[in-house]
Amino acid sequence: MRAMVLTALKAPLQWTELPDRQPGAGQIRVAVSACGVCRTDLHVVDGELPHPQVPIIPGHEIVGRIDAIGPGVEGLGLGERVGIPWLGHTCGDCAYCRMHRENLCDHPVFTGYTRDGGFSTATITDARFAFPLGEAGDDISLAPLLCAGLIGWRSLVIAGDGKKLGLYGFGAAAHILAQVAKWQGRSVFAFTRPGDLATQAFARTLGAIWAGGSDEMPPEPLDAAIIFATVGDLVPLALKAVRKAGRVVCAGLHMSDIPRFPYALIWEEREVLSVANLTRQDGIDFLRLAPEMKLVIRTTLYPLQKANEALADLRGGRFEGAAVLVP
Ligand SMILES: [Zn+2]
Ligand SMILES: [Zn+2]
Repeated sequence: MRAMVLTALKAPLQWTELPDRQPGAGQIRVAVSACGVCRTDLHVVDGELPHPQVPIIPGHEIVGRIDAIGPGVEGLGLGERVGIPWLGHTCGDCAYCRMHRENLCDHPVFTGYTRDGGFSTATITDARFAFPLGEAGDDISLAPLLCAGLIGWRSLVIAGDGKKLGLYGFGAAAHILAQVAKWQGRSVFAFTRPGDLATQAFARTLGAIWAGGSDEMPPEPLDAAIIFATVGDLVPLALKAVRKAGRVVCAGLHMSDIPRFPYALIWEEREVLSVANLTRQDGIDFLRLAPEMKLVIRTTLYPLQKANEALADLRGGRFEGAAVLVP
């Protein structure tokens, strides 16, 4: 197998030839056909997550076909198309697993962070955490659903049923979620970097009824806002934009410090929440409904060897939608 490997934090990934790996008990090996590039991959590369480890193969929006099956795997067959998400394994035994909150497991494994991921031609995963994808839809459009779509979905559920939804940071996740929210009959208000008229126009093409800079107030108070950008300064701005008892959901794994703000912004039962990881049930719920939503996924393709270019372009905001690596 070949892979783009992170051998030192903050250094470019290295194109590396590795011996083929065999799946162990309960595992499958998947020949990767597409792997999305997520902002979390930048946090992995930059060493911004706790206990970073190298060498590691990043990538956790993986679509591919099973080409080897370890002992004890049930319900999956050779050649079957699967998706592999960020949540790679949970212990099943801690207090959080027992209360059906496996996204908060005390002993998790995360794809592309604590176990090798999909910036490679093949990857090995715990079969119970892979999602069968069926044959509808193409591999490249499905890849961004595995994190941007799933985390967006979980954030939307946590944001509640409010009709007026603000999305701060209009990247891969928001461009999917805007379509999901519209499909659900909600009104989407998109907030971008101030002056980023191109992304505001992009948001309108996906159904946003209003788009503006994050320093602007929406034309009417929002029921909820989801922050995908990693900028803590957005939290007080979003609190200003939501109505009484409105929710502000922080969807990122990492965020810069939230500045001090007056208590009045959170008074009247406004709430600030964060979303951590995903549960398998989130994936099952979202991937079951996604085909009905007729999502149009905007992708920019890079050959696997150009993963560093894809990461740099993501960091620089040089494309709309999602980047996808193809081996
Ligand atoms: Zn657990
Ligand atoms: Zn991700």
